[in-house]
Amino acid sequence: MTDFTTLGLSENLLRALADEGYTTPTPIQSQAIPELLKGRDLLGIAQTGTGKTAAFALPILDRLAQGRLAQPRRVRALILSPTRELATQIAESFRAYGRHLGHMSIATVFGGVGHRPQEDRLRRGVDVLVATPGRLMDHMEAGAVSLDQTEVFVLDEADQMLDMGFVHAVRRIVKQLPKKRQSLFFSATMPKEIGQLAGDLLTDPVTVAVAPVATTAERVDQLIIHIETSAKRTLLRDIIVEKKPDRALVFTRTKHGADRVVRSLEQDGIAAVAIHGNKSQAQREKALAGFKSGATPILIATDIAARGIDVDGVSHVINFDLPNIPESYVHRIGRTARAGASGMAISFCDGEERAYLRDIEKLTRQKIPAEDRRGTITEAPRSASDDRDERAPRRDGRNGGGRNGRSAAPAPGRAAGAPAGQNRRGGKPGFGKPTGEHAASHARDGRPTERNSRPAKPQNRDTGAAEASLGRVGFLAPSSRPARPAGKTDGRREQR
Ligand code: AMP
Repeated sequence: MTDFTTLGLSENLLRALADEGYTTPTPIQSQAIPELLKGRDLLGIAQTGTGKTAAFALPILDRLAQGRLAQPRRVRALILSPTRELATQIAESFRAYGRHLGHMSIATVFGGVGHRPQEDRLRRGVDVLVATPGRLMDHMEAGAVSLDQTEVFVLDEADQMLDMGFVHAVRRIVKQLPKKRQSLFFSATMPKEIGQLAGDLLTDPVTVAVAPVATTAERVDQLIIHIETSAKRTLLRDIIVEKKPDRALVFTRTKHGADRVVRSLEQDGIAAVAIHGNKSQAQREKALAGFKSGATPILIATDIAARGIDVDGVSHVINFDLPNIPESYVHRIGRTARAGASGMAISFCDGEERAYLRDIEKLTRQKIPAEDRRGTITEAPRSASDDRDERAPRRDGRNGGGRNGRSAAPAPGRAAGAPAGQNRRGGKPGFGKPTGEHAASHARDGRPTERNSRPAKPQNRDTGAAEASLGRVGFLAPSSRPARPAGKTDGRREQR
C-alpha cells in the first residue's frame, strides 16, 4: 500500500499530514499528487469526501513554497468554489496542510460579506486565493486584484458551478489568467457543458476518476422507515432521543421544511439549528461552528446548503424527506462515514416518496433495509401556524393539487405508478421560474451572484450526451465513468 512518503511531497507537508492523522493517501491523492507535482493539468472526476481537496492543495503548496511570495494585488494560486462554505473549508485545508511552510498567505473572497476587508487583503497580494466567482469578478473589475501572475488555477465542483449559473463568470475569469499555467478541474459528474469547459481549460490533462457516487456509501448503515407524512416529526424526535447522535445532519427538501423541523424539535425541548439559503452568512457560519464544535449537534439542512459541509464525526444522516434526485441521496449519506469512520443513514419515506426510493435503489444498485412504522405513531396536535406548509410545487411534476401540494393523482405526463425517472427523462418540467433558495436575491447587473444563481435556461444533463462528448475529447476511459442510468435528465432545480 502507498504511503504519503512515496508521493514526492516535501518534508514540511508530510509533517502536516502526520499532524492531521492521515497515514494513507486516498485513491485520488495517490493518483493525482505525483502527476500534479510534475506540473501536469488534471481532470478529476470526484466528489467531496474522496480527499480531493488535499489532492490539489498539497502539490499546490509544494510548488508555491519553492517560488517567490505573491506581489501586491497578485494571486499565485486561484481556487474557484461554487459556495462560500466550500471556499471556507478549502482555505482551512490549505492552512492546515501549509502550517509548517513558513509564510504562506491564504485568503478567501465570497459574497454576503463586506467588500472592503477583502479588498484590503487582496491589495497586499495572496499566495492562495479561494473565491466564489461573482465576488471575485467584482474585485477584478474594481482593480483590487489581477490574475496576470497566477500560476495555478483550480476549478472545484464544476458541475455545481453549472447548476448555479456560474459557468459564464468562470469563463470570464479564465480569460484573465495567463496562458501558461497549471489547471486543475474537478467535477462529480460530467454533463456536456462541463465536458466542453474542461476541454477548453485543460491542456493534455491526466484524468483521475474515483469511486462513482453510487459506491461511496459502503461504510454507511442505511435504513428506510416507511412512515406517514404527519408522523415524521414525532419519529424524528423519537430517533434523536433513542440514538442520542453525536452529530446528526437532518435533510429536508425545502428551507421552510427545515425551519418547521427546528420549531418542532424545539417544542419537544431538543435544540437544533437550520442552515439554508434564507439564513445570513453570519447565521450560517454560527450554525456550522456550533455543529462542528458539538455545541448544537442537530443541524437541519437543505441539499444546496449542505453541499460542501465537511465536518468529520457526523454520526447520523437523517433524511426527513427523501430527495427526488437519487444522486442527492448518495451525496447526503456521504456526509457521514467520512475519513474512514462508519455512520448511519436513516431515511423517512412517506407514500409519495416511494417512487423516489425506487430511483435511489436503482442508482445505488442495492435494496436498502426497511422498517414499516406506519400506524405506530399518533401525531400530537401542533399549532396551525406550524402546520402551514409553504412547500413549493415540486419541479418534477410530482405535486398534485391537493392540500400541501400533495395528491394521489399522477402528475401530468406520467402514468400512475410509473417510475419518477420516466417523467424526468421525458420533459423539462417547470424550469423557467426562479423559486427557492437561489431566487432569494438578484444581482443588480443580472449576473449570477452567490445568492442569485439560477441557470437562465434548462441545462441538458443527459449523461449519454455527456459521455459522447467526453468520448470525443477523449477524457474518460469507459470503465471510469460514474455509474448512472443512461439518458437521465437532471431535475435538480427544485426548491432546496
Ligand atoms: P474532501 O474530499 O477533500 O472533502 O475530504 C474529505 C475528508 O477526508 C476531509 O475531512 C479530510 O480531512 C479527510 N481526508 C482527506 N484525505 C485523507 C487521508 N488521506 N486520510 C484520512 N482522512 C483524509
